[in-house]
Amino acid sequence: MKILVSACLLGDPVRYDGAAKTLGHAGLARLLDEGRVIAFCPEVAGGLPVPRPPAEIRGGDGDAVLAGSARVETRDGTDVTAHFLGGAQQALELCRRHGIGAALLTESSPSCGSGQVYDGSFSRSAIGGSGVTAALLRRHGIAVFSQHQVDAAIEHIRRPGQGAVGASDRAR
Ligand code: SF4
Repeated sequence: MKILVSACLLGDPVRYDGAAKTLGHAGLARLLDEGRVIAFCPEVAGGLPVPRPPAEIRGGDGDAVLAGSARVETRDGTDVTAHFLGGAQQALELCRRHGIGAALLTESSPSCGSGQVYDGSFSRSAIGGSGVTAALLRRHGIAVFSQHQVDAAIEHIRRPGQGAVGASDRAR
């Protein structure tokens, strides 16, 4: 089985501020060497530039966005929900295409957060919940882990019977 990993965790400078959030981890490096890692940034895939204005979910979390009861906005109120939904859908399609059953995503991001997201006030206040991509992947049975759970993510995809090692892939 392969794993989808937030591109910024692998050193790609795709965050809103043009930086990366590189996660140095020997186990993840081994998965990369084995060609079992697919890098992906849902916000860039959804058509947003680098750098870009920071965005937060207003009115709930990623599940609420999927339900249509919350939206993703920049600080000035620009609605970027469609970009976030588009990126999430592309992440899901990538997982289906590659038989991916797990994702390691950056905590607190409005796309990639898996345990918490910021509350839409742009005051660094977090609420429990998932980002839009994490929520959509979970709805479709894909296990989502944060960068604070790397060992659990690796254990998940290395379980016996989780599929063969494939060729190396990177995608945006
Ligand atoms: Fe990283 Fe996800 Fe934000 Fe892209 S959307 S920069 S992969 S946290």
